[in-house]
Amino acid sequence: MIVILKNDADAQKVDILAQWLETQNVEIHKSVGEYTTVWGLVGDTSKIDTDLIEGLEIVEGVRRISEPYKQANRKFHPDDTVIDLGNSIKIGGGNFQFFAGPCSVESEEQIIEIAKAVKAAGANILRGGAFKPRTSPYAFQGMRADGLKLLLQAKKITGMPIVSEIMDASHIDLFEGVDIIQVGARNMQNFELLKQLGKLDKPIFLKRGLSATVEELLMSAEYIMSGGNEKVILCERGIRTFETATRNTLDLSAVAILKEKTHLPVVVDPSHASGIARLVEPLSYASAACGADGLMIEVHNNPQKALCDGPQALTPDKFARVTQGVQKIINALK
Ligand code: PEP
Ligand code: MN
Repeated sequence: MIVILKNDADAQKVDILAQWLETQNVEIHKSVGEYTTVWGLVGDTSKIDTDLIEGLEIVEGVRRISEPYKQANRKFHPDDTVIDLGNSIKIGGGNFQFFAGPCSVESEEQIIEIAKAVKAAGANILRGGAFKPRTSPYAFQGMRADGLKLLLQAKKITGMPIVSEIMDASHIDLFEGVDIIQVGARNMQNFELLKQLGKLDKPIFLKRGLSATVEELLMSAEYIMSGGNEKVILCERGIRTFETATRNTLDLSAVAILKEKTHLPVVVDPSHASGIARLVEPLSYASAACGADGLMIEVHNNPQKALCDGPQALTPDKFARVTQGVQKIINALK
C-alpha cells in the first residue's frame, strides 16, 4: 500500500500516523521528495482500512497495491483448492462437476424423477431450491423445510450429494444433511450470514451478486474463510448490465480472472446468466473452454409447468447433450 502525504503535513500528526501504522505490523519505507512524501507500507495490509487513512487531513491519497483478501488469494496459496464431497466426488484442481436439478423442489415425485434423470445424464450433485429468494412476495416462495426433507430423500435414493440455498442464518440447523450450502446472488453481501457460515465445516457455494465486482465476490469468500471455513466454491451467474436480450450478462472474463486471482473452484451458472434454455448449451461450452471447474444447470422434467424459472430449464435429454459436449471440450483441452 502506498500513502502519499500532503506537502504541508503537520510533523506531529505524521509521527502519530507512523506510530499507529507500526502497531498494525507493517513496515514503512519512506521516500521524502522536495514536494511530496510517499510511504510504501510493506507487510500484511489486508486489515488496514484505506478509507480511514485517506480521510486524515495530512494524507493526499492512498493506493492499494496488493489485494485486500488473503485467504482466497492465490499468491499465498498457489495450488488449486480441491473440495472433496465424499464418494470420490471432488471439485477443483482439474476435477470438473455438474450441479443440476430444478430451480425449486416442488413435490416428491418431481425431485426424485429429476434427480434420477440428471444422475443418468452425468450430474454428480443435485441442486434444488427450498427457500426461494423471489422478487415478488406473491410468487412461490419454495417448500422451505419440507423441500429440504424431499431433497434429503432424493439424496438417499440416488446417493447424490445435494446443494440448496440458505437465506437466513437461523435456518442453519435445517441444513444439517445438506452437503453444500448455497448463498444466492442476493445474499452475497449478507455479511452476518457469511460470518455464521464461516463457522461451519461444510462447503459453501457462493454466487456472485447481481452488481458485485470480482473483488467484492472474493471479499465475501474471505468473510467465510476468515471464520475458519476454507471450503468455498465461487459461482459466476451473470451480472446486471444495460443488455436486456438476456436475463443477465454472463461475465466469462470474471471466470478467467478468478482462476488467476484465487485458488478456489469457480463454477458457472449459465441458466440464471441467460434466462433462456436454448442458450444454456453454448454458454456451457464457453464456460468449460475458459477454465470453469463446473457448471450449475437448472433441469426440469416439465419446464412449462415449473413453479419457478421454467423458461431457462433444460429437459433431462437436453441436459445429457450438454454434459457430453462439455466432456468433449474438457478432453480436447487436456
Ligand atoms: C438459484 O440458484 O436458484 C438462484 C436463485 O440463483 P441466484 O442467486 O444466482 O439468482
Ligand atoms: Mn432459479
